[in-house]
Amino acid sequence: MKFIDTHCHIHSIDYTIEPQQAINNALSMGVNKLICVGCDENDSELAIRFASLHENIWASVGLHPHDAKLGQEAFDKLATLATMPKVVAIGECGLDYYYNHSGKEDQEKALKYQMELALSNNLPMIFHVRDAFDDFWPIFDQYKGLKGVIHSFTSNTVHLTEALNRGLYIGLNGIMTFTKDNEQLNMATQVPLDRLLLETDSPFLTPRPQRGKVNEPKNIVLIAEFLADLRHQDLDEIGASSTSNAKQLFGI
Ligand SMILES: [Zn+2]
Repeated sequence: MKFIDTHCHIHSIDYTIEPQQAINNALSMGVNKLICVGCDENDSELAIRFASLHENIWASVGLHPHDAKLGQEAFDKLATLATMPKVVAIGECGLDYYYNHSGKEDQEKALKYQMELALSNNLPMIFHVRDAFDDFWPIFDQYKGLKGVIHSFTSNTVHLTEALNRGLYIGLNGIMTFTKDNEQLNMATQVPLDRLLLETDSPFLTPRPQRGKVNEPKNIVLIAEFLADLRHQDLDEIGASSTSNAKQLFGI
C-alpha cells in the first residue's frame, strides 16, 4: 500500500528529526510522497529548496494566518516562489480566530491575495481555517474556480457539507486518533472516500499511540488505520482512495 502525506513541515528549521531519517522511515512504511508546506515566505523558500533535493517531495508556498501581518513584501516574494519548479499548491493560508496572532483584516487580505495567486498560477490551495468558517465561506465564494483542501479539518458535519458542496477535499490527521469530541469523530465517518486526504502536519499533532514523540510522515499509516477502523473500511481502501485523491488534486 502506498500513502501520501499531503501536509508536513519536515523541511522547517525547527524540525528536530534529521529530515533524511524521517524520509527513510516514511518510505519504509509505504509513505512514498510528501508535500512540504510553507508557513511564511522564508519557510516556503526552504520547502522549495528541500523539495528540489528529493524526488518524492513537493512544496506548497503560503503565508499562514498567524503571519498574515507580514504584508506586501511577503506577498511579493510568494508570487515569485509560486512559479518555481515542484510547487504544487498555495498555502497554508486562511483564517485563524482561535489564536488571532494577526488581526482579522490582515488575515483576510492575505487570504484574498493568495486566492488570486492560486487562480493566476492555476494551483490548488491548502486552507487552514480555525473557528472562522462563518467568515471564510463568503470570502471563498467571491472567487470562482478555486480548488483545494481544508487541512486539519476538525469541524462538524455542517461545515463538512459546506466544504463538500464547494468541491473541496478534507484533510484528516492525527487529531482524530486522540480527540474526545464525538461530533468530530462522527464528521470523520461522513467524509466521502473520493474527498479524503491524509496528512500528518508533522512535527505537530502526533497520533496515538506515538503521543509525546515528534510527529513524522510515517505516521500517516497510524492515521489511516484509525480511520479504517472508525469507518469500518479496509485499510487498502482508505490508502488507495486518499492517494488517488492527492494525485488528482496536486498532480503528483
Ligand atoms: Zn501545517
